[in-house]
Amino acid sequence: MNCDIIRDLLPLYHDGVCSEESRRLAEEHLAGCAACRQVLADMDAPLPEAEEQRTGNDAAVVERIAREWRRLWRRALLTGAAVVLALCLGGFGFWYSVTQCTVHMDSGDYAYLSACVLKSGEICVEAGLNRACRNCMYYETDESGAWHLCILRPPLRLNIFLGAAEKMFPFDLVTARWKFDPRDFSSGEPEDVYFGVGEDAILLWSKESGCAVPAATEAQEAFWSGWSPGRVLG
Ligand SMILES: [Zn+2]
Repeated sequence: MNCDIIRDLLPLYHDGVCSEESRRLAEEHLAGCAACRQVLADMDAPLPEAEEQRTGNDAAVVERIAREWRRLWRRALLTGAAVVLALCLGGFGFWYSVTQCTVHMDSGDYAYLSACVLKSGEICVEAGLNRACRNCMYYETDESGAWHLCILRPPLRLNIFLGAAEKMFPFDLVTARWKFDPRDFSSGEPEDVYFGVGEDAILLWSKESGCAVPAATEAQEAFWSGWSPGRVLG
């Protein structure tokens, strides 16, 4: 029996509405033809369930994509946050390391200040500091061409932490020292040398009237004659 004829018959056979003769022919053929048995089996396939299954798969696919998307999004957020944090920290570190503020005379940071002139003519300055400042001096020049010996401090005082730390572990004074010889100044510059800036600046030396600080005591003479910038003594 030809497969085409049987397949025309199959829908009727499947629904049980064919004649007895047709049913017998179909069954005979089906017994020996796997292809037609498959066609019949497909008719029995539970269509609504298949539809449901497909819908279920779609939902699963959508859910998987959504999950992947959320994962990528979270990773992007974390990466972004890490980059921003690194940039902020780097920026702050750079700003903190390059920015320096002058310690002003009226800041309360100076515990004492002493200056003297050695027999050699060198002028020596020593400043005791209450707080952690940069333990170095440098010259700042003002509009009139005068030089001001200044001490630097970090831009943030962090007084809360410093205050608490000082109570627990009393700080030793930080001492900043500087020595200069007015004869080293090149012609014309500077007219005056001060310690500090602004109204409170203390005159150390001027071209017009020379040294403005007292002569060194014997102890000062002994200490300072062996001292040079960058060399730590006592
Ligand atoms: Zn067949």
